[in-house]
Amino acid sequence: MKLSFSAEDELFRAEVAGWLAENLTGEFAKLKYRGGPGDEHMFPQERQDWEKRLAEGGWTCVGWPKEHGGRGCSIEQQVIFFEEYARAGAPGRVGHIGEGLTGPTLIAFGTEEQQQKYLPGIVAGTELWCQGYSEPGAGSDLANVKTKARFDDEQGKWIINGQKVWTSLAHESDYCFVIARTDPDSVAHKGLGFFLIKMDQPGIDVRPIEQITGTSEFNEVFFDDAHCDASDMVGAPGDGWKVAMGLLGFERGVSTLGQQMQFQNELDDVVELARENGAAKDPSIRDRIARAHAELKIMRYNSLRMLSGQSGSDGSLQKEALIYKLFWATWHRSLGELAMDVMGPECDILEGGPYELSRLQSMYLFVRSDTIYGGTNQIQRNIIAERGLGMPREPKGTAK
Ligand SMILES: Cc1cc2nc3c(=O)[nH]c(=O)nc-3n(C[C@H](O)[C@H](O)[C@H](O)COP(=O)(O)OP(=O)(O)OC[C@H]3O[C@@H](n4cnc5c(N)ncnc54)[C@H](O)[C@@H]3O)c2cc1C
Repeated sequence: MKLSFSAEDELFRAEVAGWLAENLTGEFAKLKYRGGPGDEHMFPQERQDWEKRLAEGGWTCVGWPKEHGGRGCSIEQQVIFFEEYARAGAPGRVGHIGEGLTGPTLIAFGTEEQQQKYLPGIVAGTELWCQGYSEPGAGSDLANVKTKARFDDEQGKWIINGQKVWTSLAHESDYCFVIARTDPDSVAHKGLGFFLIKMDQPGIDVRPIEQITGTSEFNEVFFDDAHCDASDMVGAPGDGWKVAMGLLGFERGVSTLGQQMQFQNELDDVVELARENGAAKDPSIRDRIARAHAELKIMRYNSLRMLSGQSGSDGSLQKEALIYKLFWATWHRSLGELAMDVMGPECDILEGGPYELSRLQSMYLFVRSDTIYGGTNQIQRNIIAERGLGMPREPKGTAK
């Protein structure tokens, strides 16, 4: 493990912490520890304003190359940024899909025109994105996409028809990247296209789905003759799978260490409550808290090992990275259960009507989905077996 922080990095840490302390005040003070998974409905407008404030300070897209409007931070500095951001309790980022997924994908696969059209809005925090991958029959089996894209020669545009589901933040987004079938006779991962679609147009209907938390962070999105300019397809028709998979490669990067700082904040809350209400006197609770603490440390060292090691020539992380999603999602789900046991009978009582949950209740309910989105635990195990351990590939059902 090589990752270490130089004196210069520590100065950078002080700069990040100082800026956050100065700016997370006044109108933004109420955003502390708000937003993010399970709490996305809180202060949506103020959090969009916060994105713009971050941009003014040069704190969006810190890991992007400077020529694309980023800050060009080293891996160490990105780690520091995400750690300090979470330590300060700064709000969940509404721009994270654009910054973490769309931007890196356009930098890797987009045309210069696409980069010039879309990257500045992401850097400025003014244009928000959502991810249109999943469909009712295409979640884990992503290649089973049914949404169709037909090129209309007269209009010189792609016409999109179909449905996406579980589309996080679609109701707040300006754009959605969508995989759709460009060749109607194709099956599986062949014949797909990757489209950049404007949400505010006739032919797109966003319907919220109410979640167990009582809030609606994700949606069904229906495309009924929606339009996409020819120049807004990334790659050629048929390249969709390559681009879509490239994008998923960006999903688990340096921000993992910031995520752990949020986990630490949640664990601290659980410990504080256990002290306050006496649950800490129960040996089995003490044991589980100690285990959660130790496993969080393991997560941190594994991430540092992953980030400081050699990555592949395509920028992919080393094989150790494959275990990360399975580990954190399972850990976080157990933390939710621990939180409820520490709360005791109070975990069944709502703060207020009709559905006002405390932070820990909301966390417990939301973390049920951690082992599903971004690849279910079962799928992660397949990936570890096949790509990490070189075991035989899972037998597929009869090909159509
Ligand atoms: C909170 C949340 C936010 C989301 N946000 C988005 C978003 O913004 N955009 C988007 O496109 N999608 C989003 N999703 C969708 C998410 O990516 C899918 O739910 C996920 O990929 C699983 O697909 P599925 O729901 O279709 O389950 P299915 O694929 O139907 O799986 C059902 C069960 O079968 C198991 N299973 C399936 N195939 C195999 C196999 N080969 N081997 C072993 N077990 C298997 C799965 O592990 C699972 O337990 C979100 C989901 C959640 C919960």
